[in-house]
Amino acid sequence: MPQLQVIEPATEQVLAEIPSAGVEEADAAIARAKAAFPEWRDVAPGDRARLLRRFASLVEERVDELATLEARNVGKPIADARGEVGMVADVFNYYAGAPERLLGDTIPVAGGIDMTFREPLGVVGLITPWNFPIAIASWKLGPSLAAGNTVVLKPAELTPLTALELEKIALEAGLPEGVLNVVVGPGRVVGEHMVQHPDVAKIAFTGSTEVGRRIGALASESIKRVTLELGGKSANVVFADADLERAAASAPLAVFGNSGQDCCARSRILVERSALDRFMDSLEEAVEALRVGDPLDPDTQMGPLISAQQRETVSSYADGDAPIAIRGSAPDGPGYWFPPTVLCPVSNDDRAAREEIFGPVAAVIPFDSEEEAVRLANDTIYGLSGSIWTRNGSRALRMARALESGALSVNSNTSVRVTTPFGGFKQSGIGRELGPHALEHYTEVKNVFVATS
Ligand code: NDP
Repeated sequence: MPQLQVIEPATEQVLAEIPSAGVEEADAAIARAKAAFPEWRDVAPGDRARLLRRFASLVEERVDELATLEARNVGKPIADARGEVGMVADVFNYYAGAPERLLGDTIPVAGGIDMTFREPLGVVGLITPWNFPIAIASWKLGPSLAAGNTVVLKPAELTPLTALELEKIALEAGLPEGVLNVVVGPGRVVGEHMVQHPDVAKIAFTGSTEVGRRIGALASESIKRVTLELGGKSANVVFADADLERAAASAPLAVFGNSGQDCCARSRILVERSALDRFMDSLEEAVEALRVGDPLDPDTQMGPLISAQQRETVSSYADGDAPIAIRGSAPDGPGYWFPPTVLCPVSNDDRAAREEIFGPVAAVIPFDSEEEAVRLANDTIYGLSGSIWTRNGSRALRMARALESGALSVNSNTSVRVTTPFGGFKQSGIGRELGPHALEHYTEVKNVFVATS
């Protein structure tokens, strides 16, 4: 097999060298998953729950090791990586509750008894990105495994290391061989092969809208089930009656967290014009206070970008037509560094306001009325997350109902919780991750009618 060099973004040095799979290895992994399916499906629900809890405990025991690996491979701050690995354990514990609670219905009908079952799909293909590798893998693994599916997981080639650890942990936890298979290989080869393979019942994908569109098109040929978690260009809407200091203090990490490589990034900051100057002053203070540097330093808040290519893409937006209002600092030297950058004023028609930048660049867009804020926030092909900052409760609820977005928060910039649904409107995706809703995407409903007369 050809070798793949995995690079550490903060140093540009080779972090690991691992084999890169092709179609043959993908076929073998799918065959292992297919062979393991009947046994895994038939494991007693309580036993499947216990195995998932054991999986969670083993992840918890290795928080330090997994977080360090993730921080080095992605270039993300170690404090964030620890939180994300902690979340992985929480996800497995949460879905460990599912095998014994996958309830069906009994439905009143004439002439008999009617009941429904939630059944696993079979082999599920998971294709995951490089920005939150272990966390996003767990969001898909938890409900897949809890529902009795077996899995082939293809992580991004840039960041495959924690997925490979999860494969080992699954075996150590006692999951039967073949239940979780990791294949590291190029998306265009291994990913597309999985999407087209007749033995893969469903694809769960997180990544770019462009690749999501391609996956959707390929999957439609065999009516394969697909869930897609794609890009975003979310609005952080700040009204003049909000707690401006709190809104400004939390705005930088809502865009620059994970170096802006976050589908939830609130990269359009819509500010009511009468509060613009006050907001920008506080925002500048907050951006300048951001600690950008060594991902392994526990105080670091922002690391480098994932690759030289990503840095080039991000530069093209930051150095476009919109004026740079605030520019933070970033280290020199090796590493794919880019300073946190705020553009202001930006028109919602500018490229920086329309396209997902996936880097630490925020666009501040002034508005004059609530109606205009709604129009601007919704004037995008995306609809993933977003925030509303106001002290007016009625306005908060009106806005929350009016915005076309899957995961909104009021007076907060958080989007993701283990127990609540996460996913997008419009071209941000299809389906929901996390919470009870995700289970629906990893099961089929079977209806059985029994005649009693
Ligand atoms: P991609 O969408 O290309 O990659 C995501 C995953 O899909 C990776 O595992 C990749 O594999 C795989 N993949 C790539 N092409 C195919 C294909 N034809 N069929 C099946 N699987 C495929 O994202 P990029 O890494 O190129 O990032 C580009 C942009 O996408 C970012 O700048 C950002 O805008 C967006 N993005 C959004 C994410 C989100 O969380 N919504 C996450 C990542 C990116 P491999 O990389 O190994 O080839």
